[in-house]
Amino acid sequence: MTTLEEVPEKECTGCDESWPATREYFNVSAKGVYGLHSWCKACMSEDYRSRNPLKRPPVPDVFGVNLRGGA
Ligand SMILES: [Zn+2]
Repeated sequence: MTTLEEVPEKECTGCDESWPATREYFNVSAKGVYGLHSWCKACMSEDYRSRNPLKRPPVPDVFGVNLRGGA
């Protein structure tokens, strides 16, 4: 008697690796295959990390304009 179930694998479109299609490896997404996101959790977290706004926004041009026209 076996209680093991076959878990389908799902390919992550972020890293092209196949992972078990479970919520342990993928975030839940209603639109995704198996109801899971197309990216594995690792890729999601890397994506979020790379988008983490440590970058400073560009300095607005307003200051240059003021300096030039302020004389
Ligand atoms: Zn991945």
